[in-house]
Amino acid sequence: MAFSVTLTFMKTLKEVMYEALEQGVALGHFNISDSNQLNGIAMAAQELNVPVVIGVSEGESKFLGLDKMVVMVRATGKEYGIDIFTNADHTHSVEGCKLAIDAGMDSVIFDGSKLSVEENISSAKEVVDYANKSGREVIVEGEVGYIGTSSKVLDEIPDDVSSVLPSPEDVKKFIDETGASAVAPAVGNLHGMLKGRTNPALNIELIKAMRNILGNETGMVLHGGSGLADEDFTNAIKAGINVVHINTEIRIAYRKGLEAKLAENLDEVAPYRYLNGGRDALAEVVKGRLKLFNNL
Ligand SMILES: [Zn+2]
Repeated sequence: MAFSVTLTFMKTLKEVMYEALEQGVALGHFNISDSNQLNGIAMAAQELNVPVVIGVSEGESKFLGLDKMVVMVRATGKEYGIDIFTNADHTHSVEGCKLAIDAGMDSVIFDGSKLSVEENISSAKEVVDYANKSGREVIVEGEVGYIGTSSKVLDEIPDDVSSVLPSPEDVKKFIDETGASAVAPAVGNLHGMLKGRTNPALNIELIKAMRNILGNETGMVLHGGSGLADEDFTNAIKAGINVVHINTEIRIAYRKGLEAKLAENLDEVAPYRYLNGGRDALAEVVKGRLKLFNNL
């Protein structure tokens, strides 16, 4: 059963995405596994006074609890006075998307990027139809083209990542046939971060062509943002990306921050005296990314 959390947001996710595009900026999307990370992200968003999207992958939501995540994020928005939204990141089954919609998520990603084009379209459409019946505004995002799955440090680009990128027409067809409100096309991006070097550059001209054919109503989301050069982000946002996902970078910062804090005092046992080390390190990285995405 869906939770009914009565908190009024100033804006909906759809409005915020549209505004970002109009202003030539992008929303930052960051993943969490716990409330400590959520606080770090909220601290950064509050300081810069920008909206933010909180994502949970299937693994993260299993660890945290989907219903709890929704309530926790809403409460955080109230506590910090920020526009903050929930997203079920990379959900690989229609059933999983339905559960996320029932839990009250603002957005769900049906990830059928490993399916055939036909199966990806028909399943994504099923999710859109379900979302439309929810009585709420739920953003449904689809994935066109495969960019790998891991949010970790990689030695090499995985073999199965698409070398042929989808065309603007492929992306337009996906949106037209599914009715999805957002899409994450493969544009040379990659999940995870390559060890000791920046990730490959994005195809900016392709992003521009996709934005031209899609118009301004459809969200265009960049995944695999960790490890990209700053100018790649700015160029991608100028070309029409209005949401950027960051996960691996903040996972690394969180762990390093925790380790450093724990090492300061090996006898410390009060969690709030060492968990803040991870939180603060993550908040710094989030702040840097939000500044870049929001042109601050
Ligand atoms: Zn992703």
